[in-house]
Amino acid sequence: MTWDCVIVGAGPAGLSAAVYMGRFRRKVLLVDSGRGRWSYGQRNENYLGFPRGVSARRLHHLGVAQAERFGVELCADEVERVTHDGELYTLTVARGEPLRARTVIWAAGVRDLWPDFPGARRLVGKQLFWCIVCDGWRTLDRRVVLLGNDDHAAGTVLQFLTYTPHLTMVVDPDHDELSARALQKLRQDGVRLVRGRVRRAVVRENELREVLLADGERLEADLLFSLYGSRPNTAAIAELGVDLARNGHVRINEKNQTNLETFFAAGDVTNKHGHQVASAVHEGAQAAQAANHVLYPERQQLPALARDG
Ligand SMILES: Cc1cc2nc3c(=O)[nH]c(=O)nc-3n(C[C@H](O)[C@H](O)[C@H](O)COP(=O)(O)OP(=O)(O)OC[C@H]3O[C@@H](n4cnc5c(N)ncnc54)[C@H](O)[C@@H]3O)c2cc1C
Repeated sequence: MTWDCVIVGAGPAGLSAAVYMGRFRRKVLLVDSGRGRWSYGQRNENYLGFPRGVSARRLHHLGVAQAERFGVELCADEVERVTHDGELYTLTVARGEPLRARTVIWAAGVRDLWPDFPGARRLVGKQLFWCIVCDGWRTLDRRVVLLGNDDHAAGTVLQFLTYTPHLTMVVDPDHDELSARALQKLRQDGVRLVRGRVRRAVVRENELREVLLADGERLEADLLFSLYGSRPNTAAIAELGVDLARNGHVRINEKNQTNLETFFAAGDVTNKHGHQVASAVHEGAQAAQAANHVLYPERQQLPALARDG
């Protein structure tokens, strides 16, 4: 069995691509390992069409149903390695038989660097967040503890002043890369700076109450933000020769095509647009249109028109 397209990742990017590819009447397999940014407990409140917000998981289930309606097949597995023999891709998966495909859309997202105190991952999307664009609004006049170690994080902390003056930045002394300039600016603008490591977060009745540090200090808090960043999921495509940017994200052109003509990427794994559901859906749609285009057989293409002169 050779698939017209294997899409890797069933987050908003991969699902959007799947809906388009299904409607282009392509033979499409969507492979997903089930651990993306969509899989936490958060509610997306800025995605158009849901005035009360929509949970990221519900959006995923709606997308799966929509893709299945157009004949897309789904497979729960993890792609471990992708190779190309000049014509077809072979995708080695953790559990099943290798997959063969004429085109691939890589929509594998990123791995967030959450803090490593016990139970941290259970708080994601409810008491623990990472993104001011997504969740800055929640912090209106609330007490916010932000974990970050560099000037990029410090810049984001300053942006939170739009929402609340009650900001504490916790810097890990073992990874402190804050410049003197950033330190001075944070202090000037009333941000409290604490050096330490989080040992535990105290949650009662679903509300964050306190953040406890390793040295025993207790920080009162309503919300916790991790500004440690993320890493794109590209290990499985390392051998392919796909161009990556310096930060490891997949480089794409305006059609979401990589340097390989039949390999496309979409969503957070690229860094063309902000890491948002809306951008992921857009990029998935773009990648699908471009992948569909390269799949047309010769009989469905006009011969190139001869240029005058
Ligand atoms: C707490 C939180 C709150 C957020 N709030 C908002 C918000 O309010 N508004 C907003 O627009 N955005 C929000 N986001 C961001 C949004 O969730 C992401 O931008 C979006 O999910 C990116 O979609 P994606 O399809 O690129 O990646 P993902 O949703 O991360 O999906 C990638 C998929 O690929 C799969 N995968 C990875 N590697 C492999 C592999 N090797 N083989 C098979 N499958 C693989 C993963 O398991 C995953 O299912 C939030 C994110 C988080 C974590």
